[in-house]
Amino acid sequence: EERVLNERTGRSAEMFKRANRSLSGGVASSYQLRDPWPIYLERGDGPVVWDVDGNQMWDFHNGFGSMVQGHAHPVIGKAIQERYAKGTHFAAPTEDAIAVGEELARRWGLPQWRYTNSGSESTMDAIRIARAFTGRDTVMKIFGSYHGHHDTVMVSIGVEYDKIGEPDDLASLPYGAGIPQATVDMTVAVPFNDVGAMERRLEKLIAQDRKPACVIMEAAMMNLGVVLPEDGYLQAVRDLTAKHGIVLIFDEVKTGLCIAAGGATEKWGVTPDMVTLAKALGAGLPMGAIGGTEEVMSVVKNGSVYQVGTYNGNPLGVAATRASLIEVLTPDAYAHLDALNDRIVGACDMVIQKYGLPGYAVGVGSKGCVTFSPTKITDYASFKANQDAELSDLAWLFNMNRGIFMTPGREEEWTLSVTHSEEAVDAYVEVFDELASDLMS
Ligand code: PMP
Repeated sequence: EERVLNERTGRSAEMFKRANRSLSGGVASSYQLRDPWPIYLERGDGPVVWDVDGNQMWDFHNGFGSMVQGHAHPVIGKAIQERYAKGTHFAAPTEDAIAVGEELARRWGLPQWRYTNSGSESTMDAIRIARAFTGRDTVMKIFGSYHGHHDTVMVSIGVEYDKIGEPDDLASLPYGAGIPQATVDMTVAVPFNDVGAMERRLEKLIAQDRKPACVIMEAAMMNLGVVLPEDGYLQAVRDLTAKHGIVLIFDEVKTGLCIAAGGATEKWGVTPDMVTLAKALGAGLPMGAIGGTEEVMSVVKNGSVYQVGTYNGNPLGVAATRASLIEVLTPDAYAHLDALNDRIVGACDMVIQKYGLPGYAVGVGSKGCVTFSPTKITDYASFKANQDAELSDLAWLFNMNRGIFMTPGREEEWTLSVTHSEEAVDAYVEVFDELASDLMS
């Protein structure tokens, strides 16, 4: 499969050579890397993308889950063009920024909002606000979760199984070089889906006078495929953090706008103190947002925290976002995504049963994946111990060679867009059936 893909992507190989002369490693972001070269894309239209070699693919990557609106959506294009003609950037507020804030407040039930330009900025600012609000430094996160590329959260992600540590005392380890040890030490990780472990770790920290400012987490882990919260888990975390006066941040950079109109907060009916958004929010433009309660966000309003950025609330970004929220991501759109995802998850499960493949399909809203594991993944440790990484890599190559464009990592899920159809998801299932048949015969 590897050889076939390499033969089909000769122009990408040439571009990679050229790119290496001006771009570090030949790409714009390390997450775009892939051996022996990345696939350079040229064009996207609705649910379809074309690479520079002219290979046409159904897009299940969707810009790491950003393009829930589909590529080149005419409504978004019109909003961008109209805004562009009137000027793209003032660093002064525009009406669209208000309209977006009103809609996000309605969807999340959180009254106060600010904008950023990425998921990383959103989580960085949210954590600072939580620290200012509580006057505390320690941050608690879920082991294995990714929350962006700033120092505080580049901790305890992508760790090898033998370095994970004990459930009640998981390691704090930097993700890559250049992160100060003092910052690493301030971030404490606990396992997902285990409120008992969170409670015991909290008690230990409180005894050491290191009570956290916040717990930052995804309501469903979206970087181990898809790991759903077990019944009652989110409410138990909500109760525990409220009891200790710890700010609960749901990082909805991936789940927000993708799994329901009001993200995980609506889906599971648990409202945190703060929410962070990005990715699908901007419909393909770099938009992020932070929402919070009046109480927590008061540290922004009263000027004690500088929540700032030249491009925050950029007119082009908020115009695209407004059009996306009001005209594209409608209740009908979410009903369409739910129905399509049920279809693809159900069909993948049937394939798994038909061939006796060790694995299962899981999905929520526009997100889902086939997890190659004989047992259910509930947290990072069980992912590392059970997920068949080799098979996941093979599935990626197999898909790419048959016109299914997926994220290069083995830890990502598919994202459907409102422009995906039954034809698109059936194409995915057909390729999966072929893979399962090849493997199990
Ligand atoms: N939080 C989560 C949950 C994410 O998945 C990501 C990106 N994968 C981020 C934050 C960071 O977003 P960005 O890449 O826009 O900085």
